Amino acid sequence: MLISVDLYTTLIPVIVTVLTVAVLFYAVSRDLRNVLAVSGVRRISEYVTLRCPTCGYVKVREFKVGDYVGKVDDEKCPNDGSSLVIIGIGKEQANA
Ligand SMILES: [Zn+2]
Repeated sequence: MLISVDLYTTLIPVIVTVLTVAVLFYAVSRDLRNVLAVSGVRRISEYVTLRCPTCGYVKVREFKVGDYVGKVDDEKCPNDGSSLVIIGIGKEQANA
């Protein structure tokens, strides 16, 4: 009885600690990715082509970390409000 109670009273702080560390690690790695993204996009500008699957509206915008072909973007079509889909990713040399 005593042993099982001790197990729970020590287990809960351990779980809380592990969760806190995991959340901190997640936050730090996200910041790190943003820093890398900002420093990496300076020289070569990458762009993505977005297309509306409903009406065919096409738009080009700057590449963001996590973009990939086939991804449903956060951006909406100005014509019908459908989510735009990434149909292509390209690179462009600055001052070329
Ligand atoms: Zn549309």
